[in-house]
Amino acid sequence: MNFKKALFFLMSILIYSSVSHSDDYFNRITMASDGRIARFAHSPVTVYVPTPSVPEGMSQAYVDDVEYALDQWSGIAEGQLKFNHIDSEEANIRISWTSSLPSGEADPLGEASLVQFDSGGFYVNVSILMRGIPSTATSIHNEIRSILLHELGHAIGLWGHSRDPNDVMYFRTKASYPTRKDKETLLKLLSFAPGSTFHENAIAELKSDISDTPRVSHLHFWLGSVYADIGDDNKAINELMYALKLDPSLLKAADRLARIFQKEGMYQKAIAYYSRAANQEASPSLFGIIGMLYFQQKEYDKAVDYLQRAYSMDKNFTTYKNNALTAYHLWASELIKNGKPDNAISVLTHALKLFPSRVIYYDLGTAYDSKKQYEKAIENYKMALDAEPSFLPAKQDIATCMNNLGAEQIQDKHWQTSIELCNQALEWDPNCWQAKKNLEIANLELGQEKQDSGMWDDAIKYYNIVVEMNPNNIDALVGLGDSFYEKGMYSDSIEHYQSALNIDPKLQYAIDGVAFIKRLLIVNKVKIVALFIILPMLLCIIVIVLYRYLRHRRLANNRLIQPQQ
Ligand SMILES: [Zn+2]
Repeated sequence: MNFKKALFFLMSILIYSSVSHSDDYFNRITMASDGRIARFAHSPVTVYVPTPSVPEGMSQAYVDDVEYALDQWSGIAEGQLKFNHIDSEEANIRISWTSSLPSGEADPLGEASLVQFDSGGFYVNVSILMRGIPSTATSIHNEIRSILLHELGHAIGLWGHSRDPNDVMYFRTKASYPTRKDKETLLKLLSFAPGSTFHENAIAELKSDISDTPRVSHLHFWLGSVYADIGDDNKAINELMYALKLDPSLLKAADRLARIFQKEGMYQKAIAYYSRAANQEASPSLFGIIGMLYFQQKEYDKAVDYLQRAYSMDKNFTTYKNNALTAYHLWASELIKNGKPDNAISVLTHALKLFPSRVIYYDLGTAYDSKKQYEKAIENYKMALDAEPSFLPAKQDIATCMNNLGAEQIQDKHWQTSIELCNQALEWDPNCWQAKKNLEIANLELGQEKQDSGMWDDAIKYYNIVVEMNPNNIDALVGLGDSFYEKGMYSDSIEHYQSALNIDPKLQYAIDGVAFIKRLLIVNKVKIVALFIILPMLLCIIVIVLYRYLRHRRLANNRLIQPQQ
């Protein structure tokens, strides 16, 4: 399972009124990425594009939209940026089709968020909002293509917005292809190494935007984050606190603050500070901040308690719910990892009552899976799939569980049941190699069982299944040799022994088998030849004897008649 080890830097949006006339907007592309270049260092960049949940026949149009947007960006990158689709949620860019955006503050119809690992690597989630009735109408897909172009622009490193409404990276863009300025900015971005710092540019642009629109919480959040990156903690704390004051639901600001406190070893002080404030006047944002501080400390029980309290006070703060879910997920994952699946199940069962969701069902599946309670695990994985039908890991884990059940049946010598379970496993995941191997084992065992009972035709049927799956299965080839021999089909028998010998030329049993049957065939030939020689000879002798007997009788009769003449 993939645990998100880190924190979100959710990219948000602003409406810019003035129009820049420079050749690029490079100075603005690190505004939302802490003043640093945040782009993938390699090419091709891997992309995961799941099929959206739309009626059959319509999904390709949405997938084609992603392809279109990727082609547009790689087309202007002068060979420096290519994309490679992979069928895995381990991709650098992970697209998702959603009916509601994860963060309320993101671009209106899409969102790109950069997720950093503790190890220093990162990936980008790109969420695209699916509005209204699914359709293949050109107007709908033109809009989706614009959104994709924009969000993928963030994903490849343009973490800011152009001020020119014609550009793809303008907030609320309607552009259907990158402009010259988009291209110039991208090429300039690609000329700098990931991590290069442009703090001063970012601060200048952010201050300029703040002077136009002083009460936009995201600008203060971004500015605070740039200060934090420089290490100017006092300025960072001021900006982040102000962002939270403007928008108490801006949990990412609380999260950033919490990270500063962590660096300073100020957790307990911070918790005490916010707890005092919450005691004076309880508010969802204060509970949310305290929850996030505990979350940072990995004190998940307290974290979920505060985050749930925040969410129950105001259901509009879905970020608190999402963070509570993440806390439950990490808490349960830690318990499972530490060999306490029962505790994990109890935590998750509680979470399920509050937030029935794909994450919790999937984690429950994992907990039961680790206890080898495969039926229960499958039940929960299926619930996860009901919540999100395109969630591939759930399908793969169902296949693994089905296969494990099949393996248990093999242990109990219930070959037929095992075959049924392994076939079901392959329906869930056609690439489940363990199920293929177990199917081979069960069919081979069945073949040997039928052979032992003298049911040669059935034995041949199962052995053939094995050979079809694995032409190099020597046991099945030898079994076929044996069974055909028993049926008297000697050439088929030799053919299969020979196939076994092609794989292992030293296989004595097959060498002996071929030699024995060949001898048998020679003896049979001799018998047939002998029969062809002896039979005519016998016939000749019989004819001669008969002739002589008849001749003798006629002479005797002649002798008897003569005296009467
Ligand atoms: Zn944007």
